[in-house]
This record gives sequence, structure tokens and C-alpha cells, in this order.
Amino acid sequence: MDHLKQLIRDVPDFPIPGIIFKDITTLLKEPEAFGEVIDRLADEFIDENVDVVVAIESRGFIFGAPLAYELGAGFVPVRKFGKLPAETVTKEYALEYGTSSLEIHVDAIESGQRVLVVDDLLATGGTARATAELVESLGGEIVAVAFVVELTFLSGREKLQGYRVVSLIQY
Ligand code: AMP
Repeated sequence: MDHLKQLIRDVPDFPIPGIIFKDITTLLKEPEAFGEVIDRLADEFIDENVDVVVAIESRGFIFGAPLAYELGAGFVPVRKFGKLPAETVTKEYALEYGTSSLEIHVDAIESGQRVLVVDDLLATGGTARATAELVESLGGEIVAVAFVVELTFLSGREKLQGYRVVSLIQY
């Protein structure tokens, strides 16, 4: 996976001092690498009968939408507070830098649907945990929580105990 790792750019002190931002735009612009990331994630879940891919705003959408297409699944966006137009359920959560709220449409998931949660990066795990809880509050069953990048030194997996966690590239 080193060839993919080399395409991810470190941006020091973004968005605040002390954070090393993992910039995936340098991977996305390479067609073979972008395709490989989607194919590898799809291979992991192709036999899991995923009904819905739930992706997290905004970089999660970039990976979640093509993955949903490859899995023959639907796509559901989880967005920051105030962005979704219809009736929502909301969850507040802690970030590596700050706090925020996430929302999902109340009718986005049917009870018993098999859901794959996708985001670009696992840091402390708060964002993915909040998303999994939103999905479960609507009756969805979490198949796994999948990431392109995992910052293992932040121990985000601990916050996701009880879920299958998959990541392609680890730091
Ligand atoms: P967390 O809730 O701490 O796991 O944070 C994960 C979310 O914040 C993901 O949506 C990431 O895109 C973003 N994020 C957190 N830390 C970083 C980082 N060092 N580089 C890039 N994105 C990050």
C-alpha cells in the first residue's frame, strides 16, 4: 500500500497549529490510484450484501459514492448541521479539533438495512461513532466502518469497539 501512501500529502498546521493534515487530493488526481482505492474497498465488502453506503461530509462523499455504485448499494449522505433539507435526526460529537453536529434524514435508512459507513480518515473516531449511532437510531445494521486512512496513534478504533473497522492506509 506504500504506493498509495506516497500519494497522500502532509500539510503541517492545517487547519490549526499542531495538526498534520492528511491531504488526499494528491491521491484523487491520479486516476489509477483513485480507482485502486475504490476497488480495494469494494473487494472487502462485495459479499456483504450492503444495502446502503452512508458517507460523511465532505471527503467521505468522494469515496462513498463510487463505492456505493460498485457495491450496487444506495448512497446516503451524513452532513454537518443545517445542510440537509428535509426532516433530520442530529448527533453532537467531539472532533480531533473542536466539536460539531452531524445529521441524517429520518427516512434515509429503513429498519434492518445493512449499512457500510465510509469516511476518508479515522482520527479520534468521534465522527464515525456519531455516524454509526445515527444509523442505528434509524434501525440500520452496521456492516463495517471503512476508511482510506487511519491515524493509529489516535486510537480511533477504541471508540469504534463493537464495529468491524477497515482501513487501507495506516500511519
Ligand atoms: P475524528 O472524528 O477525530 O475521527 O476525525 C475524523 C474526521 O476529521 C474525518 O472526517 C477527517 O476527514 C477529519 N480529520 C481529522 N483529522 C484529520 C487529519 N489529521 N487529516 C485529515 N483529516 C482529518
